[in-house]
Amino acid sequence: MRYQFKFRPYQRRFLRSLTTNHGNWDIREGIILRLTDESGKVGWGEIAPISWFGSETLEQALDFCRQLPAEITDEIIFSIPDELPACQFGFESAREWGETRLIASVLGSEFFSMPNAQCPMPHAQFYSALLPAGKEALNQWETLWQQGYRTFKWKIGVYAIAHELEIFESLIHTLPASTKLRLDANGGLSYEEANLWLWTCDNLKANGELAPEIEFIEQPLPVEQFQQMLELSMSYETAIALDESVATLGQLAACHQQGWRGVFVIKPGIVGSPSRLRKFCQQHKIDTVFSSVFETAIARFAALQLAAELSRNNRAVGFGIDHFFEQEETWLQSLCNSL
Ligand code: MG
Repeated sequence: MRYQFKFRPYQRRFLRSLTTNHGNWDIREGIILRLTDESGKVGWGEIAPISWFGSETLEQALDFCRQLPAEITDEIIFSIPDELPACQFGFESAREWGETRLIASVLGSEFFSMPNAQCPMPHAQFYSALLPAGKEALNQWETLWQQGYRTFKWKIGVYAIAHELEIFESLIHTLPASTKLRLDANGGLSYEEANLWLWTCDNLKANGELAPEIEFIEQPLPVEQFQQMLELSMSYETAIALDESVATLGQLAACHQQGWRGVFVIKPGIVGSPSRLRKFCQQHKIDTVFSSVFETAIARFAALQLAAELSRNNRAVGFGIDHFFEQEETWLQSLCNSL
């Protein structure tokens, strides 16, 4: 199959700066692309790299798009190198755009209108909502709860551990016991701190307190300390999820091969080829959580399709991020119309 190819970069400011252990993030930049096949059918795709997380840079993605001819083929799409995982995702999902629309109708009743397609937006209870780091979380969760969210993610490893443990104590006594809480360290803990967090979470369960379930601690240690995380995952009840360690398909396969049987956080937007991801997940039946890379509705659409196909164990998907951006419909619509 041959496709007419067009693309356009975009920039989008967060309503408030996003703080993680990697620092502050103010502007999301990416590329919207359009493929028109020989029959005139249009497919949309989005390249939304996060280079500090392990994908290519925006500049590398732009260079790749710029050197492509105006007409491209399936051969070109399926031979995008592994060094450009966000491009692999953007092009393959644009190519699949027509097929995925069919699945959208099964996913939920609340729909969000998109150029030439509809984006599935299941009810908030299927999403995990991101709380701000530090004590701000205490003031934010209630609004999100009222919007229907029941799973929350809180960033840890941002402030001193004693301070965060204090806030954690308040948080678990404030959150309704029916909620689930994920703690995301973004690789920012020391080995001792990771032990302390895991011990604290295990104790919470052991004491039988009426408190939210700690679903998992995400990426407690830096990527290089895989063996220590493997050891921690066998020493505590509380589950550990790998995120930064499994940013791309190659890393995911390597961690699985080295014995990781905990949770894998998959960010479809940067993990690489959707077709190869499908194959891997189906073959190895891994425990996955799907998560956002702060993409627009275009990549979110494709990512949620993958999540719906490949999620196991009923885990909420980490796309509860709408409160971080202004409403996107208008600017995205006009960007798409300009292509
Ligand atoms: Mg994470």
